Amino acid sequence: MTNRIVLAIVSVLVLAVNAFAQGGPDHPSVMVHGQVYTPRSILARNMGTDADQTTQLPPHKIIGNIYYVGTKTLSSFLIVTPQGNILMDSTYERNVPVIQKSVADLGFKFSDIKILLGNHAHGDHQEGDAAVKQLTGAQVIAMAEDVDTLKAIKPGGKEHPIDKIIHDGDSVMLGGTKLVAHLTAGHTPGCTTWTAVVRDGGKDYNVVFHCSLRSQGNLTPAIVDQFNRSFKVVRALPCDVPLGDHPAQYRMLEKHAKLAAGGLPRAESRGPNPFIDKANCNLETDIMEAMFQATLAEQQTGKTQ
Ligand SMILES: [Zn+2]
Repeated sequence: MTNRIVLAIVSVLVLAVNAFAQGGPDHPSVMVHGQVYTPRSILARNMGTDADQTTQLPPHKIIGNIYYVGTKTLSSFLIVTPQGNILMDSTYERNVPVIQKSVADLGFKFSDIKILLGNHAHGDHQEGDAAVKQLTGAQVIAMAEDVDTLKAIKPGGKEHPIDKIIHDGDSVMLGGTKLVAHLTAGHTPGCTTWTAVVRDGGKDYNVVFHCSLRSQGNLTPAIVDQFNRSFKVVRALPCDVPLGDHPAQYRMLEKHAKLAAGGLPRAESRGPNPFIDKANCNLETDIMEAMFQATLAEQQTGKTQ
């Protein structure tokens, strides 16, 4: 048997074992832009393996003053300004040293982080907030509707730090960069989509840091209303550069591979920046909305098995 055949057999076995271990059926399945998605395939795509969640992805410039400092499957963004830096998402607490290393590898100081923002109140995005606060003294800013859930995230019993509570439409300013917080509830009550206009190569670009729009569990009428509002809000945002809380949501690996080896994307010298991807700004929203509608339809027709 060739290695490839052995690998294929092992892959099928791993899939089967995983399906068994995770238990329960995996539906609905939806086809969006020619690709089939199920709840489990989306989760697997987002999270990867345990190792992927903790392994450093080479840190890189995305555009303007925005850099990627997260792991292979959990996003963390550094926004650099002359008055100190902003970190968006600490991810799991065990990843904080990985993020520290990525910040240092880019030539920045971790202690220059003045503000810590979050995407949404789940451990894979904000469990490390207390550790980052401890290391940097950064001001931790949270969307009001996520505060209760955030406070319940207490790795090792540490209190979750929250220094400032904001609301839908509020902005965060530092060193000439303005980030606007858009409440896009559904995945969590305070799920926050952040937007910024950044300058690169003499042009302005609208960057959208999407919050997850993945529905989960029982869709109550309140959650259905939240998602319906959020899909509209997100689609109306001006967008040139779509980003997300998991790299797969904006096909980051594919885009990262296009960057010149060892170089930063510079539109003027190395061809177009792959992260400028206006055509795919709503791709992830299309997938999540199709899954949401299919899940809701199943729920309404009573298919729960
Ligand atoms: Zn989540």
